Amino acid sequence: MIFSRILEIFAPINCLGCGFEGDVICTTCLDALSLPDRTSCYACGRTNLRGRTCEVCLRGTVLAGVSVAARYDGVVKELILRLKFHRLRAATETAAKLLLRTAQDWPEVQLVTSVPVAASRHRERGYNQSELLAKAVALRAGLPYQPLLGRLTATHQIGLDRRNRLEQASGAFYAIRALEGQKVLLVDDVVTTGATLSACADALRSAGAGSVWAVAVARH
Ligand SMILES: [Zn+2]
Ligand SMILES: [Zn+2]
Repeated sequence: MIFSRILEIFAPINCLGCGFEGDVICTTCLDALSLPDRTSCYACGRTNLRGRTCEVCLRGTVLAGVSVAARYDGVVKELILRLKFHRLRAATETAAKLLLRTAQDWPEVQLVTSVPVAASRHRERGYNQSELLAKAVALRAGLPYQPLLGRLTATHQIGLDRRNRLEQASGAFYAIRALEGQKVLLVDDVVTTGATLSACADALRSAGAGSVWAVAVARH
């Protein structure tokens, strides 16, 4: 781990888009990335102002909405792989910049937190990319970061089919402390079905959160 950190300090970083030295995605290439051309309800995909969860889907989730910063392809896909597997500080900073581009769509938030990874994965990688990302977002947004969620062991989920996994997901998280009406911003790198974000939102609301809004770099 220390060795890779040293390598990271000395290895030149080149833009994934144009190769220019200095950033994982340079400012020019970052500006050229268009935000997804429409915002939609994360659960049903219906076009929706600012990514809010639609009335119908709100019957099944307490997650108020999801802001997605970019499409999952090209340099963004590459960026996310780096976040997941290389713990590059520069990749985290670039991803945080991308997430901040959606800030105009966020409702009022007071606290930033992240989706926890299973303890086994944390041991394996030595870090949680969502936590690194959430901390970088909090710093840039001038908001406090707090770890608020824990995750039950994943072993009981192995062998279940996708449908069962999704159903189990709501029981997989718990809040580690009580909240007093705070409006929480939940950060993750990629959103797929949104079941994980919804399950985290459930746990936060059960602990007393006033509302939960999520942000992700891309939708897969
Ligand atoms: Zn570039
Ligand atoms: Zn919907």
